[in-house]
Amino acid sequence: MAAKRRPKDKAAKKSKGWDIVKDAALKTRLHVMPIDDDYPHVQGMECECRPLLYGATYGDVLVHNSYDRREDAEETDTHEEEL
Ligand SMILES: [Zn+2]
Repeated sequence: MAAKRRPKDKAAKKSKGWDIVKDAALKTRLHVMPIDDDYPHVQGMECECRPLLYGATYGDVLVHNSYDRREDAEETDTHEEEL
């Protein structure tokens, strides 16, 4: 029984951080979105940041990519945990 871990949403110290937002249409989907990013994001795969979709036990998590590249300063996110 592999317990799947959610992508970590570390409260970033150096960046403006990330927000977790429920999808307006898909109740089982969450979005991890950069706060106050250079450009706006839309809730969906069509977002121009080319978000990554992760499977989770209770639904989907769509992790957006920041336009200001705050990830680079964060040494984050085990993106290879994709199912
Ligand atoms: Zn996005």
